[in-house]
Amino acid sequence: MRIIKDLEEMQMYSFKTRCRGKTIGFVPTMGCLHEGHLSLVEAAKKKADVVVVSIFVNPIQFGPSEDYKEYPRPLATDKGLLEHFDIDVLFLPEANKITPDNFSSYIEVDKLSKKMCGRARPAYFRGVTTIVAKFFNIVCPDFTFFGEKDYQQQIIIKKMVKDLGFAIKIITLPTVREFDGLAMSSRNQYLSVKEREQAIILYKALCLARQEIESGEKNDHKILLRVRSLIGSVPNIRLDYVVFADPETLDEVKTLRGKILVALAAYIGKARLIDNLIVNAK
Ligand code: AMP
Repeated sequence: MRIIKDLEEMQMYSFKTRCRGKTIGFVPTMGCLHEGHLSLVEAAKKKADVVVVSIFVNPIQFGPSEDYKEYPRPLATDKGLLEHFDIDVLFLPEANKITPDNFSSYIEVDKLSKKMCGRARPAYFRGVTTIVAKFFNIVCPDFTFFGEKDYQQQIIIKKMVKDLGFAIKIITLPTVREFDGLAMSSRNQYLSVKEREQAIILYKALCLARQEIESGEKNDHKILLRVRSLIGSVPNIRLDYVVFADPETLDEVKTLRGKILVALAAYIGKARLIDNLIVNAK
């Protein structure tokens, strides 16, 4: 596994790889790797000739009161995991090279970025799309891999790729969960033992919504009320949002028909956790 920190070196590596007729699969991450990330790495290995994984805690996607400084950065462990997976390149740029002091160009996917997580985190998706686009220009991948766990993120990136004509195929993979259903997340590390036990209510709430929707309940208010009261029954959890939305447009739906995205975000202790399920209404 080659470690590349320099932006031009990464670009040159990709250029030479593509000149040799090889495809590049790219997995962007913020590190603190878990099985969710590794499922993307595995898929990239199956799909592409050469696999590049980046670890970069993106400063411009964090709000001023968010956890940029505390975000876990267990680099030695991450390197070990990636070596085990025998990837080709770990791209490890420094923040001051990606967003130097005079950095002033941004990409924003209008509308989609303002919904759901965009309400509580107004600059979040602009930070994500700007840096993902920059990485696309540096890594020049044929395929890029994202997790359904960050559902809104992958929809927004697909829209950016389409609108701006990036010649990249976005591949989305299912959410990997802990034994009890909690979606794996680097932020689960913030949870105390008690909070970790309580966090399972989020998945249970999604399952409750799925069960009601799939069994034919049409009253969205009634289901949302049950979901909110289930989550509300656990102390220390503050629900940010729960929505029923169109899986493509992310517009909230009132009529429960066809495929529906059930998505939520909640604060537990220091952690803000998100999760979602796609359900089939009758
Ligand atoms: P992050 O390091 O949190 O920025 O995530 C990097 C990539 O891993 C994103 O595409 C995420 O959607 C994906 N990811 C994170 N957690 C999971 C999970 N539990 N299952 C599948 N993919 C995940």
